[in-house]
Amino acid sequence: MSTILQDLYMPRPRLVCTAARPVACNACGKGVDDGHGIRALSTASGDIMLCDLHYPKQ
Ligand SMILES: [Zn+2]
Repeated sequence: MSTILQDLYMPRPRLVCTAARPVACNACGKGVDDGHGIRALSTASGDIMLCDLHYPKQ
């Protein structure tokens, strides 16, 4: 299991975050409010947020 970005998992819907937009999966749009853990993934085109379902398995 990858734990590199594990600290981005947010069990609570409320989070102090610098991002203005709500944290949600860039693939399906679901977020912590839907019970998903969201992780940031750095790509060539920038950082994206992905839920547990869409985060690439290692
Ligand atoms: Zn997703």
